[in-house]
Amino acid sequence: MSARIIDGKAFAANLTSRIGDIVKAAMAKGATQPGLAVVLVGNDAASEVYVRNKIRTTEASGMASIEHRLPVSTSQDELLTLIDTLNKDDAIDGILVQLPLPEQINADAVINAISPEKDVDGFHVVNVGRLWAGLPSLVPCTPYGSLLLLKDALGDLSGMNAVVVGRSNIVGKPMAQLLLSENCTVTIAHSRSKDLPAICREADIIVAAVGRPDMVKGDWIKPGAVVIDVGINRIETPERGEGKTRLTGDVDFNEAKAIASAITPVPGGVGPMTIACLLRNTLVAASRRHGFSLPKDII
Ligand code: NDP
Repeated sequence: MSARIIDGKAFAANLTSRIGDIVKAAMAKGATQPGLAVVLVGNDAASEVYVRNKIRTTEASGMASIEHRLPVSTSQDELLTLIDTLNKDDAIDGILVQLPLPEQINADAVINAISPEKDVDGFHVVNVGRLWAGLPSLVPCTPYGSLLLLKDALGDLSGMNAVVVGRSNIVGKPMAQLLLSENCTVTIAHSRSKDLPAICREADIIVAAVGRPDMVKGDWIKPGAVVIDVGINRIETPERGEGKTRLTGDVDFNEAKAIASAITPVPGGVGPMTIACLLRNTLVAASRRHGFSLPKDII
């Protein structure tokens, strides 16, 4: 069997274009333009690329994107002052502070200073708690995007065994909660889990969010399982020439695709969904703040 390759890029492009249509229709009916503030502190190369992509996609969807670039020497108080200003700014519906932050700044303090209604990353403790309590919340973008791909591939997830490898606050834990809310039986595995291959072999759904290149092997996968590879790892490829690199996921793609029924590639799988879901969250935040309604599949 060769797995169906789940095209996250195409799914994300459709979602982004649908969000653009909804924004246009809402504004035509008098809604204010949704606005996303993106805050970048310092000049981490990967963060620069992420922020550039986020701004480009936000603008393409018809929302306003307001960029705040601060020097690497920015103090925590200076950043908190900016967050306070953005919280009070009625033109801003979503606030995203790009992580990682320089070491003098406590990321938790900054995230929890963002108004929960504008916390489009879904990292604020209020949104974390609301997600776990089954209440409406802003949900972290990467797990939410992964869930959309799973539902598209499988339809109803009810009763399925799902294994999430990784327990970070930004991916693993919210992913597990989302799968639980879809009535999956969920196992969260991590670096102390015993016999990870055996745990994975029980899974109808595997979500790998570890940060270790090609860790999940083909013989860890139950025939016909669906595999979501969240990992983004840059590895050197000396065979292509000195200094050359490529991206790879946490799953050994070539092995896994011979066993799974469907799998996300890296790149082109979960990655594009993260940005599309950021726009979705900004739209949801704007609709709640300004009182316009959204179609059911977007809420
Ligand atoms: P973290 O480093 O925060 O968490 C990694 C998790 O993997 C931890 O829970 C850790 O366990 C677990 N782990 C590490 N080694 C092993 C092992 N040998 N066996 C089992 N579990 C292990 O990473 P993130 O969650 O932030 O990111 C995970 C991956 O996803 C990374 O590659 C990252 O680049 C990618 N990513 C991709 C995004 C996208 O848009 N596609 C967005 C965010 C992340 P423990 O808790 O015990 O230490």
